[in-house]
Amino acid sequence: MVASLSQKCRIQNLSNAYGFNTVVDVLRLDELHPVVSGNKWFKLKGYLQEAKQQNKQTLLTYGGAYSNHIVATAAAAEAAGLQSIGVIRGERPPALSHTLVAAQSYGMRLIFVSREAYRRKTVPTEVYTIANAETLYVIPEGGYGPLGRDGASSILTEYDIKGYTHILAAVGTGTTVAGLATAALDHQKVLGIAVLKNALSLQEEIGNLLPPDRHERFALLHEFHFGGYARYTNDLLWFMNDLYQRTGVPTDFVYTGKAAFAAVTLMRAGFFRGSDRVLLVHTGGLQGNRSLPKGRLIFE
Ligand SMILES: *Cc1c(COP(=O)(O)O)cnc(C)c1O
Repeated sequence: MVASLSQKCRIQNLSNAYGFNTVVDVLRLDELHPVVSGNKWFKLKGYLQEAKQQNKQTLLTYGGAYSNHIVATAAAAEAAGLQSIGVIRGERPPALSHTLVAAQSYGMRLIFVSREAYRRKTVPTEVYTIANAETLYVIPEGGYGPLGRDGASSILTEYDIKGYTHILAAVGTGTTVAGLATAALDHQKVLGIAVLKNALSLQEEIGNLLPPDRHERFALLHEFHFGGYARYTNDLLWFMNDLYQRTGVPTDFVYTGKAAFAAVTLMRAGFFRGSDRVLLVHTGGLQGNRSLPKGRLIFE
């Protein structure tokens, strides 16, 4: 896994397939690894490094039943020779989601907590029956924090992105956009596509990870959530299938389908100027499509 993660991903043109004159390219971070895909690997690497340095043995983090962050943490922990514990929001369901089954297959132990308890983000006492407090390393939900930001900033420094004027990415916690805004050059603007409805605290949460002189470097767009987190419409699925047919780029319905929809819609609406060059960061997350009813997408 480590070898495949150090490989560079393709930057693929999208605009030709749509007949746009303005360049729209996509950075295929989905190709890094099928599970620890895209931004999750970048956000986690600083935490893994620190856990190793501090001789920690068990990673603990938080997420929902479909969380890409949970399964990515499980896979990354296994690859690093560490134990992992996932604190999962809500009661244990009779049948585990694909995401949680995958996390377990990487050796992650799952602890289900009520929504109220989850909101407090404490370490459940049950954890100490399976892990030692001294060797426990807690990663914030979604990898949100300075280490997550710095890891995400290397998305841009590892690729030659000088030529782009706009960088687009889907936004959950905002850690990735904070990283992109950290690394963006003077002539670049980062556009974050919020996938949660009314995610009005995001502006501040991203701002808290950036020095004041970087606050203008990003902007959030709130019109592309399709009803809210993990919600979708037929139009979104149709768009994702059409995008795949035109370009061969698979997207997920929670994050990257919405970000790609935003890129194409903004382009059609004349949001960009002719000389602009747009880079869409494909942040991965394809495993999430397994929770859709079968047959809705024409790709895996
Ligand atoms: C987690 C995730 C995001 C959101 O990243 P944040 O750093 O939390 O904003 C975007 N795309 C995919 C595919 C993800 O899994």
